[in-house]
Amino acid sequence: MKLSDRAASTPPSGIRRFFELAEEMDDVISLGVGEPDFSAPWKARAAAIHSLERGRTSYTTNRGMYDLRAAISEHVTRYDLDYGPDEEILVTTGASEAVDLALRAVVDPGDTVAIQSPAYISYGPGVRFSGGDPLPVSTRAENDFVLTYDDLERAGAADAEALMICYPNNPTGATATADELAEIATFAREHDLTVLSDEIYAALTYEGEHTSIATLPGMRERTVVFNGFSKAYAMTGLRLGYALGPAEAIDAMNRIHQYTMLSAPTTAQYAALEALQSCDDDVAEMRTQYDRRRRFVISRFRDMGLDCFEATGAFYAFPEAPYDDEQFAEDLLHDQGVALVPGRVFGEEGHGHLRVSYATGMTALKEALNRIEAFLDAR
Ligand code: PMP
Repeated sequence: MKLSDRAASTPPSGIRRFFELAEEMDDVISLGVGEPDFSAPWKARAAAIHSLERGRTSYTTNRGMYDLRAAISEHVTRYDLDYGPDEEILVTTGASEAVDLALRAVVDPGDTVAIQSPAYISYGPGVRFSGGDPLPVSTRAENDFVLTYDDLERAGAADAEALMICYPNNPTGATATADELAEIATFAREHDLTVLSDEIYAALTYEGEHTSIATLPGMRERTVVFNGFSKAYAMTGLRLGYALGPAEAIDAMNRIHQYTMLSAPTTAQYAALEALQSCDDDVAEMRTQYDRRRRFVISRFRDMGLDCFEATGAFYAFPEAPYDDEQFAEDLLHDQGVALVPGRVFGEEGHGHLRVSYATGMTALKEALNRIEAFLDAR
């Protein structure tokens, strides 16, 4: 079969490749995948089941059930975000679909999209699928992996059409304060960039409050915000997310969505509505547990003599690798049966780091860190 150049030139996900290795081995502890170890809150699951019992198995409106959009509109006010349910919210099949739609809605062939780096693995390919050219913009460890005005300038982002950011960040766990975001916002306004802000980990912020760049002066009209239920509500398999933005952006995204997806999964929309209405306590409990693990993991790495940045969001630690990150990850997997992701998978700037997911129970986490320590001691 003839395949498109676009498909043929897309490399397999670096994370998946690594995990195929791990799957062939026994007794592996995986700190690899970015997926909660919890199940979705029971009330959300019950709402999904109940919707099926009532025979709610049809499509919903393209934009998503009105009640769900109204609940999202209300929910995001906790981040000082003000988006109306009629025109400014689109319910999507995971935040993944929202990112894809936004890129297709704003990128013309040949446009440049600056991407904060290291970055979640989907953004670069997503930009290419929309016909654009990704431009990685390195963040630096000495700035706690938060993008600065200088980083953007140095990378040539002034000539880009759009900028993709993500706080709390995957893979670094970095969060950005309002002051830090203000620098990025200034650059975006000065160079007329559209900002695509992936805030899927907003609820998993451990120090201070999450701030959205869309709340800063002059930013709402140029920003699309992504969020979803996968991380905060442990609902990865239900595939539900959403986009918030000015009516014209949401309308453009919906015009693509109505031909490609029709509507997000109906059962998941019922679960999500319930999650927003009654599962704050479950989210708070999961956050507390992630936070305990976060402190534990970072302090264990530091005790082992590895430099480990103080991640304050999401569920990843991003320590420095003792030697080449890819080699280290492979050696550790073969020698001790612990799977981590080499930082280079997330872009050039990830080289020399390891992404360690702590969305894993404390017992397994302790054992994994003991094994890493044994591996380092034996060198
Ligand atoms: N953005 C980031 C930063 C992520 O880490 C992930 C999931 N790994 C996604 C988006 C995709 O989320 P969803 O399951 O909602 O498609």
